[in-house]
Amino acid sequence: MYCAGHLIQAAVALHRGAGDGRLLAVAVRLADHLVREFGGQDRGLDGHPVIETALAELYRETGTAAYLELARQFVDQRSHGLAGDSGLGRRYLQDDLPVRQSATEVGHVVRALYLEAGVTDVAVEMSERSLLESSARRWNDMVAAKTYLTGGNGSRHATEGFGDRFELPPDRAYNETCAAIASFQRSWRLLLATGDAKYADHMERVLYNGFGAAIATGGQRFFYVNPLQRREDHFEKDDPGRRRVWFNCACCPPNIMRLIASLEHYLATESGGTLYVHQFTGSRLSGAGLDLEVTTDYPWSGAVYLRVLAAPQAGRGLALRVPAWSATTRISVNHDPERTGISPGYHLLHRTWRAGDLVTVHLDATPRWTYPDRRVDAVRGCVAIERGPLVYCFEQADQLDGARLDDLAVRPGGVLGERPVTLDGIGQTIEITAPAIPQPPLAPVTLPPAVPSSPPASMAPPFLPVPGMTAIAIPYFQWDNRDGGPMRVQMPRG
Ligand SMILES: [Zn+2]
Repeated sequence: MYCAGHLIQAAVALHRGAGDGRLLAVAVRLADHLVREFGGQDRGLDGHPVIETALAELYRETGTAAYLELARQFVDQRSHGLAGDSGLGRRYLQDDLPVRQSATEVGHVVRALYLEAGVTDVAVEMSERSLLESSARRWNDMVAAKTYLTGGNGSRHATEGFGDRFELPPDRAYNETCAAIASFQRSWRLLLATGDAKYADHMERVLYNGFGAAIATGGQRFFYVNPLQRREDHFEKDDPGRRRVWFNCACCPPNIMRLIASLEHYLATESGGTLYVHQFTGSRLSGAGLDLEVTTDYPWSGAVYLRVLAAPQAGRGLALRVPAWSATTRISVNHDPERTGISPGYHLLHRTWRAGDLVTVHLDATPRWTYPDRRVDAVRGCVAIERGPLVYCFEQADQLDGARLDDLAVRPGGVLGERPVTLDGIGQTIEITAPAIPQPPLAPVTLPPAVPSSPPASMAPPFLPVPGMTAIAIPYFQWDNRDGGPMRVQMPRG
C-alpha cells in the first residue's frame, strides 16, 4: 500500500499538471482493488502510511467517495494491532493508541507525519472537527517540544523516531530529509484548514533550514540525516556523515525533487476575495482576481516588493504573512504613509487596486540570538544565531587564527556583525560575526589511574576575554560544502 500510495499521488499529479489520464486509469484500478480487498474489513493496515493522503487526493480528483471512506477506515483502525509487528513496538508504527486519543507524536517520524497529513485530509473532507483538532494539538506539542531549531524532527537515531518531549540532542539528531518534507506537507494541510499563520511560519523554518541543508551547493549530493552538530571524528557505521550522491534506501532524493518541483504551489492561496501570500520569493502570483509580480532578494533581504499587474474594478484583499521573527515590520502602498507597529500574522490590505500599484514590505532581518528552552538538557547553556528565516551554524573552516571550534564560546548580548562574502565551495552568502571568548583548554583524554589519585593541586586559571575575538557563522543550509570538518548550531555561552 505504501507503493500504491506513491503511484496514486504520481498519477494525480500527472493528471492535474499535464492533463494526462493514462496513469490515473492505473491508479483507479489499483484503488478499486484496495477498496474490494480492505473496505469494511479488519484484514490489515500498512505499517508505513502514505496511502491515506493518496486515497484522499484520488477522491478529490475523481469524486469517488469509496476512496475517502477507505482512507478514513485506515485512520480509524490505528491501535487495532493490524499493522503487524515491526520488532520495534507498536508506538513505532503509531499503532499503540487510537488517533483521536493520541496526545503527542511517537514512533518513526516519516510514518507519523505522513499519517498526520492523511488525518488532516480525512478530517477536512469529512468535516470532522474533533479529528482536525486532535491533529492540531499534536502539531502544537511537536513544535513546542519535539522539533529542532532547524524545523527537523527525529531525536532517536536508532528508530529514526520521535523521542521524549525536550529530548533533542544536536549531535544525535536524525532529522531525516523526508521527515522535513512530511512536516512541510502536514503544516500546509493545517494552514489550508485553519488559515493560521503559525503553520506558514513553520513551513518557512523547515524549508530554509531542515530541508534546505539536505542539498549540496550544486544540487548533486544529499543528506539523509540532518544533525545540528558534527564532531571532528564523526562516523556512522563506516560513514563520515557527509552528503552522498545516492542511498540504498533512496527515499530522500526523489522526495526532494518532488517538493522543489511543486514549490510554486505553496506560495499563495485565495479565500473570500483575498489573495493570501504565504511565502516570499521572486514570482508571479494570481488569485482573487489580482495578478502580482513579486521581486525580492529574500531570504538574504527582508525587503519584498509586490507590484499589481492587473486588478478587477471591485475592491480586493491582499493578505501578507508577517513572520513571527520580524521584530519590527513596515508596509507601505504607493506613497501612502507607511504602516508600522505591525504584528506577526496576516496583514490585510483591502482596497480597489490599480495596475501599477506597489506594495513595499520591510521585514526585520537583523541577526538575533536564540536561546533554547531550558528543558532541552543537551544544549543547556548554549545559544544559537538566526537571521530572518535562516538558522546559522559555526563551521571549523571559517574560524579565525586557528581557533578550534570546540574551544570557542560566544558572548550573547554582544553586537552581531554581518557581511556579504563569496566562499569557495559555497558561493554567495552572508557571514555573521559573533563576539567570542576562548574556553579553558582541556587536558588530553587519558585512562583513569589504577589507584585513587590525589586531589588536584590547583584549579584552572581564570580566562579573560580576548579583545576583538570573533566566531564566524554561516547559514545552516550551506554547511558541509567544504572540508567536512566540525560544525555546531548551538554554541556555549561564554
Ligand atoms: Zn528519506
